[in-house]
Amino acid sequence: MLKKGTKINSILTGTCPKCQEESMYMDKNPYNLNNIYKMHEKCSHCHIRYKIEPSFFYGAMYVSYAVGIAFAVAAFVITKVFLNNSLMTTFYAIIGTLVVFMPFIMRVSRNIWINMFVHYDKDWKENLKEETK
Ligand SMILES: [Zn+2]
Repeated sequence: MLKKGTKINSILTGTCPKCQEESMYMDKNPYNLNNIYKMHEKCSHCHIRYKIEPSFFYGAMYVSYAVGIAFAVAAFVITKVFLNNSLMTTFYAIIGTLVVFMPFIMRVSRNIWINMFVHYDKDWKENLKEETK
């Protein structure tokens, strides 16, 4: 399913949105919380700058609301609709889900955000040569 060149691949793996040759993050594991936001300045393959402008990734906050709500809805459907738990249990299940998945949600939101602005370029190698001529 994770085909190179698709946005979903870059979003789920945190690879460079343009060439998808390497991770944007210094530490691939989002659960190392000290490093969760530590990114390389630019891609060593296609040389794109990840921080397109100062405070570019603030916009990812809005994405994380949407992703968080999606996780909350999923937790609600599983706990209340499928398992038929009480509202109180469902409430705790939602909170628990959000806490457990928060690092993942933050990362995926950044990945979605940058993928809205930067698109995969299968000819990135040729284009790089053009630019450095
Ligand atoms: Zn790249």
